[in-house]
Amino acid sequence: MNATYPFQKSPRCTATSKRTRMPCQAPAVTGWTVCRFHGARGGAPKGKRNGMYRHGLYTQQAAAMNARLADLQRESRALLRRLIP
Ligand SMILES: [Zn+2]
Repeated sequence: MNATYPFQKSPRCTATSKRTRMPCQAPAVTGWTVCRFHGARGGAPKGKRNGMYRHGLYTQQAAAMNARLADLQRESRALLRRLIP
């Protein structure tokens, strides 16, 4: 009897084995390109869903905003230096 199980047709993991240098070939987790052993669904939840969330000052979004503000300040100072010597 040759049964074909659904996981046999599912997409394969795209990771490469460190030891054998061969493709992993394990079934990939739904919505990911890698299997459960190669980092699918890894990491802690972001933002308010994270258990250590307090006020949002250090979220990725806030950090990106601060970086953009710092760039703007830098550009403004450079412009003022050129306009007012
Ligand atoms: Zn894998």
